Amino acid sequence: MPSALGRHMPLESHPLRALQTAREIGCEAVQIFVSSPRVWSPPASNPKETAGLAEALGGFNPVVIHAAYLINIASSNPETRAKSLRLLRWTLERGTALGATDVVFHIGSHGGDGLDVGIARLVTGLREIARELPLGPRLLLENDVGAGHTIGANFTTISQILAGAREDWGDRLGVCIDTAHLWGAGHDIGTREAAQATLAGIDAAFGLGQVWVIHLNDTTTALGGHRDLHARLGEGGISAAGLRALLSDPRLAHTGIILETPIKLREGSEEHDWDDDRARVAYARSLTNGPENSAH
Ligand SMILES: [Zn+2]
Ligand SMILES: [Zn+2]
Repeated sequence: MPSALGRHMPLESHPLRALQTAREIGCEAVQIFVSSPRVWSPPASNPKETAGLAEALGGFNPVVIHAAYLINIASSNPETRAKSLRLLRWTLERGTALGATDVVFHIGSHGGDGLDVGIARLVTGLREIARELPLGPRLLLENDVGAGHTIGANFTTISQILAGAREDWGDRLGVCIDTAHLWGAGHDIGTREAAQATLAGIDAAFGLGQVWVIHLNDTTTALGGHRDLHARLGEGGISAAGLRALLSDPRLAHTGIILETPIKLREGSEEHDWDDDRARVAYARSLTNGPENSAH
């Protein structure tokens, strides 16, 4: 069975309508924000709304929540770190209430204190959260482009964090691989051979079985440019051959694949061009079929 495929959906003021649209454009999987990605305080919710949203999300698998961008558990600032732990914990609890399968978060930045210090702060924080929360969604560390002091461009680093927090998280801790971030970090996926070598690197570090979500994005940054610039699939520098090798690998067939690019507007209007997204989802699906089946 190939991976389930979908896109990040902005829920805005009409979550149920947005999820209906997701179905119409061919999403089997979906990713959402449950709080504004650049705001510390989570929104209020009522039980009726939550139940309605959970029911609508029940039609998708996996259901992925992307945690707020602000979260930085490796932060040297105690206040930022405390706020980060609180918001990530809330996001996981919200994920439980909504029946989400996975919560993805950005690994963060050590702020100049060094990788080992950053990893230690992360591991301590993650273990703290696991001990405080009942079983809920899996928590996935998203790989990074490696700009500045950010952590997680390197597979060995991710493996160290997983190993450090494993005792408290068990198999509920895993990884989300973003293809644009791979490219930005300098992990070549530009050809079939390069993608296979990158997969071998991931497998050697922590095992492809720990990857639960793939963020399928193209990028306009150079390979190893350490910039996080998402482009719509087919409009950046990553070749179809490389993406195809990655997405059709049977060792990743258990993953959910999520397109994360911003929604295109119809020319000269404020209206979303969902036809474009329907086509990109279908194209992404063709990439999961592998080189043999898709040659014609
Ligand atoms: Zn992300
Ligand atoms: Zn991503």
